[in-house]
Amino acid sequence: MIWPAAASDASMAAVKDLSDIGQRARDLLRQLPAGVTLVAAAKSRTPQQVRAALDAGIADIGHNYVQEAQAGIAALGREAARWHLIGHLQRNKVKRAVQLFDIIESVDSARLADALESACAAAGRVMPVLVEVNSAAEQQKTGVWPGRVEALVCHLAGCEHLRVEGLMTLGRFAPDPEACRPSFRLMRQLFEDISRAAIPGVRMRWLSMGMSDSWLVAVEEGANMVRIGTALFGPRQG
Ligand SMILES: *Cc1c(COP(=O)(O)O)cnc(C)c1O
Repeated sequence: MIWPAAASDASMAAVKDLSDIGQRARDLLRQLPAGVTLVAAAKSRTPQQVRAALDAGIADIGHNYVQEAQAGIAALGREAARWHLIGHLQRNKVKRAVQLFDIIESVDSARLADALESACAAAGRVMPVLVEVNSAAEQQKTGVWPGRVEALVCHLAGCEHLRVEGLMTLGRFAPDPEACRPSFRLMRQLFEDISRAAIPGVRMRWLSMGMSDSWLVAVEEGANMVRIGTALFGPRQG
């Protein structure tokens, strides 16, 4: 059995957790310059925690995993937010992803693009996509290499059911956010080069970069979409 005192401690902790999320969300929204969209990075968070962020005024939720997104969207409703896929997409999950997300930020190969194109054609919809760039040029990470971004954008521009809307990157994982600045600056350069190339069907709107520790530097370097998890929801459990 659950002792009444223990139960009420647990539920008070849960209430405090949700009100802390609301407070942090309002603080972040206040700090972000106008025109910068805050995407709440919701991996491993509960629908209640995501709901608290939405209630505080966040409108965009990012998921890394198709299955987790499916559960979250089922709990909160398709209309509750704009749903972003920010994690690596496996080709066997493409069909489900096309049903769930409003934008896919992690397109990093022509093969994935082709799989998405046929799933979107079958579903009769056009999907906004961002090209994920391995801007720190680190071998282990996802994302297309900087030198291959424009070729992938051109490939995507030929996909009738995909619409390129910008670029996304993780940047470097480093304790010092300044270490991310060179890769963010490179992203801005790529973004501007591709905008200037004026590729038909491509509308460069979003430069998605910056996380809890690095969003300030990212915004300084031109990000207009930041993806924040820990600084919003608190440290992840487990
Ligand atoms: C987890 C995650 C984030 C947010 O990271 P935090 O450091 O927790 O803010 C942003 N983007 C992606 C792709 C992520 O997986």
